Amino acid sequence: MLATARIPRTLWFWGLLIWTTSSAWGQSGLDQLLTAPERTNFETTSTYEEVVSFIETAAAASERLHLSSFGYSLEGRSLPLVVFGDLDDASATSIYKSGKLRVFIQANIHAGEVCGKEALLMIIRDMALGKYDDLAQELVVIMAPIYNADGNERVNLFNRPRQNGPYGGMGQRPNAQGLDLNRDHMKVKSPEARSLIGLFNEYDPHVVVDLHTTNGTRHAYHITYSTPLNPNTDRNIDSFLRQRWMKDVTATIKSRIGWDYYYYGNLPYRQGEAGWYTFDHRPRFNNNYVGLRNRMAILSEGYAYATFEERILATRYFVEEILSFASDNSKVIAQMVEVADNVDLKGSELGVRFAPHMNEASTDILMGDVYTETNPYSGATYFNRKDTVYTQTMPNYGAFEATETSRVPDTYYVDKKAADVVSSYLDTHGIAYSVVSTTRSLVAEAFAITTSDVSKNEFQQIFEREINGAYAQTEVTLEPGSLIIDTNQPLARLLFYLIEPRSDDGLVDWAILDKWVEVGSIYPVFRSVE
Ligand SMILES: [Zn+2]
Repeated sequence: MLATARIPRTLWFWGLLIWTTSSAWGQSGLDQLLTAPERTNFETTSTYEEVVSFIETAAAASERLHLSSFGYSLEGRSLPLVVFGDLDDASATSIYKSGKLRVFIQANIHAGEVCGKEALLMIIRDMALGKYDDLAQELVVIMAPIYNADGNERVNLFNRPRQNGPYGGMGQRPNAQGLDLNRDHMKVKSPEARSLIGLFNEYDPHVVVDLHTTNGTRHAYHITYSTPLNPNTDRNIDSFLRQRWMKDVTATIKSRIGWDYYYYGNLPYRQGEAGWYTFDHRPRFNNNYVGLRNRMAILSEGYAYATFEERILATRYFVEEILSFASDNSKVIAQMVEVADNVDLKGSELGVRFAPHMNEASTDILMGDVYTETNPYSGATYFNRKDTVYTQTMPNYGAFEATETSRVPDTYYVDKKAADVVSSYLDTHGIAYSVVSTTRSLVAEAFAITTSDVSKNEFQQIFEREINGAYAQTEVTLEPGSLIIDTNQPLARLLFYLIEPRSDDGLVDWAILDKWVEVGSIYPVFRSVE
């Protein structure tokens, strides 16, 4: 289709002559396979149709590329999945059979932030050309180049007005429902998030990389990145990502390309003081959600005021070095994930409310500058990166700390009246539980609700709720249909965050349990006594 049409006639002729040597034919086709930005001097980004056509052409030319789909967008677009590896097919069964480390890379969760989508297409083409064959010894790379497919098709020249191109416009941030998919990992109100979490349950990637473009601060980094930010994340995973993986990749890029990469941050002047502040600890965000599943998460943010071409390249280099590190350390990563899954959290205190935490008193941040230019087609002004760098020293608020904790019990019990609602979320997230078949009584801790308030502002079409109260020991009767949830399971950190009454990103917060949280009532989930 698109790619075939671009093959020069002479090659097409010779291709017919040597059609039996299919690899030569395929490789000739690949040489002419260009992304939309490559074809248009980086003025446009790929449409959904172009992405599908591109990956079909690449996969047809390579035994190492396998195509599948992980679900659907609201408007019924199939969400393409490309799997690279020495495999029979793209199925989870084949991937598990290979025993390789599973790395998942997703792009376009925000469909105006298109550098990741284009970088992944270029990598997929080079995978078909055999340039990454070494990686197949240790890795299976699972890629979703166009996650927010509906948002991608809503191109407008005034989307993301300050971003440095593409001049021909880009898609929109939310999906077709108006939901931000990077706030939807806990409440799961979009078909896209449901599809993605289904993929996490089915393919269980050890590593998840989420590709974005920045929105604001004028720093001098080509990429800013983040690891999981919730303090409830497994400590070993957190320190491995920060102390080894990000340090190694940052140094390699600096020596290979000369560009600076660093932790994502913004520079608000809080109480008149400069500080490098990261974004948010809550698992509604992809990197934090993946962290609570005991998996390695890396967020990538291409710098919005670098040219579109530079953003694509910067993202591509980052992905390449992430894959290279994953390949070199595949056994360690797999082992670390397995150990985290077997940690028994019973009796430990985990956070339910959090605040920014200064993780370094003094950090040298590379600040930059921009100048204003005009989009020739829309007439709108945007910012272009200047190649100037100055160092500003400031405290680093690159982490969070718990301001309130709660005990992880041996067991949670869900009252029958809320069992259908709660179990639907446990099923969605892949959390194990059992159902009570005969009435039983036991002593447990019940949470008596003293305040129950909703936010003044609607967010993601929901008025978020916060309840207060206290646990107290009481006799509880569990009728048939009630749920029993053992916290000794791999997803215990996620379970705790979903179900604790004071959690800032759980079922209460998202107004999912509103029927049962009036002042004076008992929260419909009990916990076992200490
Ligand atoms: Zn984004």
